[in-house]
Amino acid sequence: MSSADVDVIVAGGGPVGLASAIEARLAGLTVALVEPREGVIDKACGEGLMPGALPLLARLGVDPAGMPLRGVSYNARGRRADHVFATGIGRGVRRTVLHSALAARAAELGVERVDARVESVETDADGVVAAGIRGSWLFGADGLHSTVRRLAGLDRGAPRARRRFGITRHFAVEPWSDLIEVHWAPRAEVYVTPLAPDLVGVALLGAPRTDFDETVAGIPALAHLGESSTKLKGAGPFRQRAVAPSRGRVLLVGDASGYVDAITGEGLRLGFDQARLAVAHALGTGDYDRQWRRTTRDFRMLTSRLVLAATSPARGAIVPLSRALPGLYGSVVERLAR
Ligand SMILES: Cc1cc2nc3c(=O)[nH]c(=O)nc-3n(C[C@H](O)[C@H](O)[C@H](O)COP(=O)(O)OP(=O)(O)OC[C@H]3O[C@@H](n4cnc5c(N)ncnc54)[C@H](O)[C@@H]3O)c2cc1C
Repeated sequence: MSSADVDVIVAGGGPVGLASAIEARLAGLTVALVEPREGVIDKACGEGLMPGALPLLARLGVDPAGMPLRGVSYNARGRRADHVFATGIGRGVRRTVLHSALAARAAELGVERVDARVESVETDADGVVAAGIRGSWLFGADGLHSTVRRLAGLDRGAPRARRRFGITRHFAVEPWSDLIEVHWAPRAEVYVTPLAPDLVGVALLGAPRTDFDETVAGIPALAHLGESSTKLKGAGPFRQRAVAPSRGRVLLVGDASGYVDAITGEGLRLGFDQARLAVAHALGTGDYDRQWRRTTRDFRMLTSRLVLAATSPARGAIVPLSRALPGLYGSVVERLAR
């Protein structure tokens, strides 16, 4: 591709990069999507789309198959606290299904895919050069360990304290609940999400070197899962910070713009919203930094507090308190599910 030929370069073809590319094409912008991995991309994820994510996908013309998610259930030592979403229904969607649906829509809209990795970023007053392409804007959608964030001088580093990681696996069993089940094991949270009539996903969130099989085996309610049908996948550390979500013509979207933790299962909804805001900024109708702060405020505040509680001696009180204070528990879930 010659230089100076697209409105938007998107670095990263994960769900948020694809959503950004679709959003930009729908707004009439030309797009080059730079992604080094070929084919359908899988990734460690709880695979729960919160209710607010579905309208954001619908406006992109994307409706991936999955299983309805009606709420959240916190479980510990035989006790449970359930909350049914008041704002709508979410969906458990296998990452490969989500990726295929977004990639097909992007191709249909004429998003040009470039098989490369962004390794340098040069900016001037009028544009950006990345992966040998010149664009008016660069959206960094290259995930937790974003190269674009670092190259744009926006990386604020990851804190050493309370480092948490995620590990996932799938099990070929019929889902037994339409709630996202969260099992609060002594040292990790284990999320069970229905994904298909014969498949559930299990995501473990916790400290480094937490053993997946040993942790799941210690939860009696999951004793029937049997052998996993997929290999372990991992991601982390979760906490990644950016100095700001943009600098000049470089805008960070999705996990690249900073991430707190998967404990509230929200990365996708936020990322899709950021894709929308980034395109509005490129069109001159929005202020990305201000709107990014607004859309991520609850995630940054509430998720940080929940992680703080989960990694403190108060951990054991989380499920009993959620049972004792259903109004508070429900209002927190609703704010994050919007
Ligand atoms: C265990 C776990 C459970 C989770 N559970 C949930 C959940 O239930 N619900 C939810 O909404 N969110 C959840 N999340 C968060 C969610 O997975 C992320 O927020 C989401 O994947 C972010 O998408 P993204 O496109 O920003 O980044 P990614 O999905 O990481 O995609 C980044 C892409 O960029 C590419 N890339 C990397 N470097 C470069 C480069 N230099 N140049 C070009 N391309 C590059 C990569 O190959 C990749 O394809 C969970 C996360 C984890 C780890």
